[in-house]
Amino acid sequence: MEPQREWKKVSLFPQRFIDDLRLQANILTIVQEYVPLKKAGSVYKGLCPFHAEKTPSFQVNPDKGFFYCFGCQAGGDVFKFLELHEKVPFPDAVRLLAQKFGVALPELVDGDNADARRDAALRESLLKAHEIAAAYFREQLMNPVGARARQQLKDRGISPRAIEQLGLGFAPHSRDGLKSRLLSQGFAQSLLVQGGLLRQRDGGEIVDLFRNRLIVPICRDTGSVIAFGGRQMDADQGGPKYLNSPETAIYSKSRTLYGLNLSKQDIRKVGFAVLVEGYFDFAQVFQSGAAPAVASCGTALTPQQAQLLRRFTSKVVISYDPDAAGQGAAARSCDLLVTEGFDVNVVVLDKGEDPDTFIRKRGSEEYRARLRGSKPYLEYLLDQAAAGIDFGQDEGRRRFLGQMLTVAARIPEAAVRDQFADRIAHKARITEEVVRAGIRKAAVQRQTAVTAREMPSLGQMKQAETALIWGLVHDSSNAMIALGELEPEDLEGLAGRDIFHVARDLHEEAAELLPSTLLQRLSTVNAQLVTRIAASATAPAPPHACAQAIKRLRWERERAAIQREIDRLQELGATQHEHEIDHLWQRKKDLLHRIERLT
Ligand SMILES: [Zn+2]
Repeated sequence: MEPQREWKKVSLFPQRFIDDLRLQANILTIVQEYVPLKKAGSVYKGLCPFHAEKTPSFQVNPDKGFFYCFGCQAGGDVFKFLELHEKVPFPDAVRLLAQKFGVALPELVDGDNADARRDAALRESLLKAHEIAAAYFREQLMNPVGARARQQLKDRGISPRAIEQLGLGFAPHSRDGLKSRLLSQGFAQSLLVQGGLLRQRDGGEIVDLFRNRLIVPICRDTGSVIAFGGRQMDADQGGPKYLNSPETAIYSKSRTLYGLNLSKQDIRKVGFAVLVEGYFDFAQVFQSGAAPAVASCGTALTPQQAQLLRRFTSKVVISYDPDAAGQGAAARSCDLLVTEGFDVNVVVLDKGEDPDTFIRKRGSEEYRARLRGSKPYLEYLLDQAAAGIDFGQDEGRRRFLGQMLTVAARIPEAAVRDQFADRIAHKARITEEVVRAGIRKAAVQRQTAVTAREMPSLGQMKQAETALIWGLVHDSSNAMIALGELEPEDLEGLAGRDIFHVARDLHEEAAELLPSTLLQRLSTVNAQLVTRIAASATAPAPPHACAQAIKRLRWERERAAIQREIDRLQELGATQHEHEIDHLWQRKKDLLHRIERLT
């Protein structure tokens, strides 16, 4: 599986068309339509359109075809600029660019044109049906039939203005209210079942999916309604407390962040997003104006949601219900965000409170104060584990240490891990050496169980990788030669491996086109990384030396793995495993020779 392959880039346009368009579309011309730029050496600088700033940290490199901001780290090619600035998905950015340059759009590809057109038509109809359904639910809420629902919203402290902004509605008891509305507008019944607005009962009868529920419309970040969430009016009415639309041609739960359409502009402005759990947490935070929020809706965040969020910020404050379930989802979301390279803080509310109840009781000022007092994730984990432990007792200290060692073993970077070890030692009043040794041991045990593919971030990237990536943009032909010297095994485990693999596939590309083609083929996260590295003005190291260093790193990794295996066998009993250990020593020696010959 390739979780990083970007779904947004799956467009119906042929690659050749996109390549040609990119060549015609000078990024400088396009960016200058939006941002005043001044020449500074080989690049152009200006005030970043994606975050508020007074001194320019945004730059465009017209030769290499990319932009980058040192302030907020937004970066990419000309398509990415339009995606971010116009807040549209990739295919729309292509259309927009084609329009600007008066280029005719090609026939849609994708194997079968008729199929592609049918799919597009289906999605179009479903969007229209959802728009009508949303209007229907809003109308019902305001009708006499919606009186109880209005009262419930009032009891929940949701203001009439927020109801309107969130587009909240009500699905009455009626089995076919929405059905008749949509059929009367000419929609086919089968389409509405397929689109999750109607459902077929066991007896064959087709009825409204949402009945006797408060309705929350779920939107794309562009604002179109693509699904609904429905909350029970009565605890005994049957069905789940929250009923959601099923996955359809227009709705994928794992790729949607509730509330992003309402918050995205403010997220850019303030530079972070608050992540809450449910619709009503979102509603409270939203109407309080304390900070821009999004909701993951009950489950832990997915990588796709994290990537969606990254278009707007790389800093997240998690504000989940601090009960046990909340911790589980919160912990998984935090882990994911950390590996995705986000800055993660955690808000601590009082026991039994979620943002919804907290803001209703204590007000938005108090919530704002809690946001300001939010803690970095690791710090938060420490405090949490330390709560309720009696550090005066050996037993308590041991328990605390045991819990923290599993956390510490997950930290990928050794320096951060050691820092964390010192914090643990301080807290538990145990000497640092003991803790560090414990972490090393836990890390060795974990080694066999490491499965999660780590997402790349600059922090995880080796210097040689960074330098080679810089070379791909600024010294393309030499970098491609150097990349050709590397074997696939050399790239394994590198934070930049996806970038290198995509680059290797471009070996037939003319050197001057390589930077922009590369950027266009990469996922958002990786394209951003590349522009971040390429924005640096000076060459870190020549490509050939980088390739050598990367090879060396691979052998070092292999050597370390062998060492770990030796350590493990020795711990199990050196005498029983003497033969294996000897063999491993020999392999280690071979590797050392090879490493020496490199330099
Ligand atoms: Zn910026």
